[in-house]
Formats: sequence, structure tokens, C-alpha cells
Amino acid sequence: MLFETIVGPIHSRRLGSSLGINLLPQERKLCTYDCIYCECGWNSETEKREIKLPTLDEIKTLLEKRLHELVAQGVPVDSFTFAGNGEPTLHPQFPQVAEFVMQMRDKYYPKAVVTLLTNATQLSRPEIFGAVLKLDNPVLKLDAGTSAMRAAINKPNKPEHTFEQLVENLVRFGNRCIVQTLLLRGENDGHTITNVSDHEFAKYVEIVKKIGPKYVMLYAIDRSTPEKKLEKLTVEELEKYAQVLRYEGIDVKVYG
Ligand code: SF4
Repeated sequence: MLFETIVGPIHSRRLGSSLGINLLPQERKLCTYDCIYCECGWNSETEKREIKLPTLDEIKTLLEKRLHELVAQGVPVDSFTFAGNGEPTLHPQFPQVAEFVMQMRDKYYPKAVVTLLTNATQLSRPEIFGAVLKLDNPVLKLDAGTSAMRAAINKPNKPEHTFEQLVENLVRFGNRCIVQTLLLRGENDGHTITNVSDHEFAKYVEIVKKIGPKYVMLYAIDRSTPEKKLEKLTVEELEKYAQVLRYEGIDVKVYG
């Protein structure tokens, strides 16, 4: 499923009434990962299409027009949410767009938060790290505690995006970030994949302790996935894993 530039607001299980801002192309996915559970599908399904990103001016016009409509209709917005057809921080003007969105939040919905759902691969770029740090809700993806499991689940498509570098950047964020983790079991390319085996989950907990995030979002698959052999964990199972983190003093929210 692919998204337009401004989406919603839609009800989000994690963010309430969420106004989506998709900085990626409308016709294709653009991401540094190719997650086996990605609701936008495999990268290869659309990668031959042109990369046409919305410009800063287009985003400004579309967003302000939509905000006028929403305020006139009395529609609530809890979160301005960067998400969509890939990794938002790949937009070459992400820092400028983020500044503008914060201004719009202050003007139209001052009680709302600005959220970024990101795979965190671009945080080594100082301008991206600085821009993400200013947001209210930087939600950074960490789906595995080992490099091998991260490769199996997220399939990073550039060798320079190492697991070690990812962890280092998350640790730099510390309690200013929210960690998002999708727990799953399944199969891909003939291999068994799980981030909830005793070994994998213990390694994951070690890393989360090092990060010391504001809190962790644990969630299960919610939508159609490109890899069909994936199992949706139950809320009870998610709660069991949340308890392990809570025992270590980590705050956790569970979304089944
Ligand atoms: S990081 Fe997000 S957009 Fe990119 S492949 Fe994974 S789920 Fe899809």
C-alpha cells in the first residue's frame, strides 16, 4: 500500500489522531531497509519507478491547506507524523521540513506532538541527528539484538549501515528517543526468523538497557506483509516480553 503526501488524520493505535506527512514519492517506496513485514511491500516491487519527491514548497502548501480544512471542520489532531512510503529522513530537505511542521503545529494544534517514525539509519549525518533531536517524539526502530537478526528482518540495502553504527546512534539519543520494536516469528527465504528466541531477546534487552530510552513501543504485525509466512504475536505474548524489559527498569507500552 502506498500513500499520498498528506494522509488523514487517521486513528493510530500508537499515536491517536495522526496526520501523516509522507516525504517520499507517491508512486514508489524509498528506503534503506527492506523489512520483511513492510506494509509498503518489497522495495523491488516499485524501485524501477521514477523518484519524484515533493518539494519543500509543495509540502508547505499542501500541509497548510489541509490544516485550514481540519481546523474549520473541528477535526482533532494529536500527532503530526512523519511516516509513509519509506524512510522520511532521506528527503534532502528533511531538517527544513521538520522546522516548518513544528511551526504549523504551534500555529494550528499547539497541544499536538511532532512524531517521526524512522529506521534510524541516517542518524550518522549530523544535520539529520540535530533535526531529529528537536522533535517531540523521535521513534527509532530497533527490531533485533544481533547484527544477523537485524539483517534477516530489516534487510539493510547499504553495507555502510552497520548494526554497530545503528546501536551507537541509538545510544547517543539515550532517553530522548522512543525505541520501536516489532516482535515476530516466521520464515523468509527458507530461514526461520524470530526476534523472540531466548538468545535473541536477551541480546535485544542488553542493547535497550545501554540506550536507556524514554520508553519502548512493543508491537505486533497489524497489516498485510510482503513475506506471508510471518506470525502475529498475541497481546499476551507481547506483555510477557514487556515484563522482561520492565524488570530491567525500562518503561514499555504494548500495542497488539
Ligand atoms: S524501515 Fe519502514 S518503510 Fe523501510 S522497509 Fe522497514 S517498515 Fe518499510
